[in-house]
This record gives sequence, C-alpha cells and structure tokens, in this order.
Amino acid sequence: MKKIISMILCVAMLIGCVAAFTACDSKDDNKLVMATNAAFPPYEFVDGDNGFAGIDVEIAQEIAKKLGKELEIADVEFGSIIGGVQSGKYDFGMAGMTVTEDRKKSVDFSDTYATAVQVVIVKEGSQYASFEDFYTGFDADGDPTGVKEGIKIGVQQDTTGDIYASDVPKKWGFGKDNVIQYKTGADAVQALLTDKVTAVIIDNEPAKSFVQVNEGLKILEGEYANEDYAICVQKDNTALLNDINKALKELKEDGTIDKIVAKYIK
Ligand code: GLN
Repeated sequence: MKKIISMILCVAMLIGCVAAFTACDSKDDNKLVMATNAAFPPYEFVDGDNGFAGIDVEIAQEIAKKLGKELEIADVEFGSIIGGVQSGKYDFGMAGMTVTEDRKKSVDFSDTYATAVQVVIVKEGSQYASFEDFYTGFDADGDPTGVKEGIKIGVQQDTTGDIYASDVPKKWGFGKDNVIQYKTGADAVQALLTDKVTAVIIDNEPAKSFVQVNEGLKILEGEYANEDYAICVQKDNTALLNDINKALKELKEDGTIDKIVAKYIK
C-alpha cells in the first residue's frame, strides 16, 4: 500500500514539475509585449502595409532595443490595457496613456515622456464656439450649473476624455447621460461628422490628426485639461520599471525622443 501511495505521489510531483516547466517556458524572455490601441495617431496607428507606426511605437522599439528584446505589439481596446498589464498578459502598456491617481491603484507608471491636453472638436460652423457655450448657466464660482438641451458628447470609452465628460456640470462635465462612448477616437469623430454627437473630447494631437484628415471639423480654442503620458507596468515590477525609466532617460538625453516626435508632429 505504502509503495502505491509513494508511486502516486511521485507521478503527481512529476506532472506538477512538467506543468510548472511548460508554464515558465511559454513566457518568451526575449520578447517585450506592449499593449496599445492603434487608432490614436500620431502616437499609435496602423500604417497600411508597414504595420504599426507612431511616436509610442517608435519609442517602444528603442526601449526594447536597449533591453535587448524583441518588441511585440498587442492591439487591443484602450479599456483592456490596464487589466492586461495587471494580470501579466502584457509586459507594459503604452497608448498615449495619461497618468491618473485612479489608474495608479492598478498599475505603476514610468517617468512621463510627453504632455497632452484634452480638447473639444466640433463641426465647422457649429453654434458652440467655446466651452461655456455648452452650458445653461454658471454658479457664483463660475462653474456650470447645467448642460444645454440635446447636447451629446462623443468620447473614446475609458479614456480621460470619457472620465471628464461623464463628470457633473459643476466640474465642467456633461453628465453620463449626455455622453456617448465609442470604441476608438476615430469612431467618435465619425459620429461627429454624421451629427450623432455635438462634439468630441479627445487628446490634442489625435484631435489635430483627425481634423486634418476629415473636412469640416475644428478644434475649439482653449484647453480642457492638462495631462502627462507615461508607460504602465504591472504593480511592483520594479525591475522592468527601472529598465524603462533608464531607457527613457537616455532616449530623452540623446535627443532620440525629440527626433521621433518631430517626425510625427510638425
Ligand atoms: N490620454 C487618454 C487617456 O489616457 C487617451 C488615450 C487613448 O485614447 N489612447 O485616457
């Protein structure tokens, strides 16, 4: 009996070992997997036959080179980047991603490599010429008290534009009911072109790109919110975070990042 039990134990241990070995082996140490949403020009987009392009894509390639790894890009919905980084499915997330206190609860952020502002896109000739125009009135602090009838704001789901727009009027939001979420910024812009929404709130550089390629759109003057972009990694993965920060520092200092940015932002 004892013999049988120890044999069973041995076999179980062997299976366990093999399983552990295969699990370890499936993670390719030579690869660095970046999660992004490649519909956010000029930071990341699909460039015809050339595959992925953009500022983030090129910076990530330089980082991977410095770490001696091959960059692999996973093009996913913006809202699933943080969860995937958190679970270890992706090594890092880079998607024109704004550092927020809330996101910091789920992932760690690198040093920032770019700044951005949220802007409002409307159709040319729109009756809304300033942020104030969207609201019915203002309180003693100068904050909006209500949103004008029929206003719908298009946003890319789960982005900071979505978070600000969905906030209450007092905080210069429009209330959840007046916000329509789209899978990509490009979809939100299409909705604006076809009058499904009154305006789109999105980061300034993608806004410029969208306005450039679509006739009849303009960006309202003024800045809706200032932000910092950074790369996110799994919480407490300090080894990778330090490597990324070191690479970013070198790429900033030797002018590589400026060169990449200048290529995409004229
Ligand atoms: N900067 C915005 C955010 O982090 C939008 C990013 C994006 O759409 N790729 O929420």
